[in-house]
Amino acid sequence: MPIDAYAVHRPGQALDRFQYDPEPLGPHDVEIEITHCGICHSDIHLIKNEWGINEYPLVPGHEIVGMVRQLGGSVTGLRPGQRVGVGWQRSSCLECGPCNDGDENLCTHLEATCIGHYGGYASAIRTDSRFAFPIPDALDSASAAPLLCAGITVFAPLRRHGIGRGSRIGVLGIGGLGHLAIQFADALGAEVTALSSSPDKKMDALKLGADHFIDTSDGAKLKRAGRSLDLILSTVSADVEWVDFLAMLKPDGLLCLVGVPNRPVTIPAFSLIGGQKGIVGSAIGGRIAMREMLEFAATHGVRPRVETMPLSQVNTAVSRVEENKARFRIVLEV
Ligand code: NAP
Ligand code: ZN
Repeated sequence: MPIDAYAVHRPGQALDRFQYDPEPLGPHDVEIEITHCGICHSDIHLIKNEWGINEYPLVPGHEIVGMVRQLGGSVTGLRPGQRVGVGWQRSSCLECGPCNDGDENLCTHLEATCIGHYGGYASAIRTDSRFAFPIPDALDSASAAPLLCAGITVFAPLRRHGIGRGSRIGVLGIGGLGHLAIQFADALGAEVTALSSSPDKKMDALKLGADHFIDTSDGAKLKRAGRSLDLILSTVSADVEWVDFLAMLKPDGLLCLVGVPNRPVTIPAFSLIGGQKGIVGSAIGGRIAMREMLEFAATHGVRPRVETMPLSQVNTAVSRVEENKARFRIVLEV
């Protein structure tokens, strides 16, 4: 049966209705009838071809939740009718060092859900069942969808860097990723400072679990907070004054980049040398981290704030995300 989707045919163009015949179902594949798909800012980068890695037609969408419809002959652990989710990663080699260590997200053979494959702004998807994750019952499907990319992308580095009681962390950019980072860090016991260019997000940030809110356009306030944070998780998709944020880190503190600014991150060496600070990156998360994150969200009440919109309004939804108007994640209902 053909799959109905929305696709971009040229960089930056509106999405159009698009139909395709799926590849034959492989032995490890699953066919999922999609009910929900979140709009991650990475989809916006792809729609505008800002990373230059697109193949066309491009069907974006990698925060997918739906029901298992068909299973390949070698699939174990999933059953028809089961609710599952798929994130940015659709497969890996499952044989290399990182894969064996549970870091499938670092596999050099990683395949992305919507690059070279058709993604989740669609009625269904066929993908590798080993990257389709059962959704805990406590999570409704609209809430679960953003966890599949935004959730894992912020949860994995918080875990990796040992964030817990006594940690003081900053979350830079309170969008889809950032509003989940506040919740996860708070649930892990950290003291959380929300760093935002949108003063109207203050009340929401505090309700989500932030202990402090700093308007990043207020240079004096940034300076007053100086040298107080162990880790800043940057989720901004824009170019900011990195030096100002490095100055907020304690000695040995880390600036962890998950957001993808347009320009290279340039900093004077002394802003790192002085306090022996570091800049690190983090990419989604492996399969063990994904299962742990879903369970953690289910049991600790971490829930994305979601606006739902029908898939047919995908272009309006994409514009809202691009204009930083979503509060805090738009999820398309199929
Ligand atoms: P989003 O919902 O659009 O949120 C991004 C936030 O960045 C905005 O809400 C805004 O927060 C801030 N921002 C936007 N424009 C800004 C500007 N001009 N100046 C200062 N701040 C600005 O995006 P998202 O879905 O959370 O994704 C964020 C980034 O993470 C994207 O670049 C995406 O590609 C990347 N990402 C990376 C991974 C990974 O594995 N590393 C995975 C998923 C996504 P305030 O209004 O609070 O300032
Ligand atoms: Zn994403």
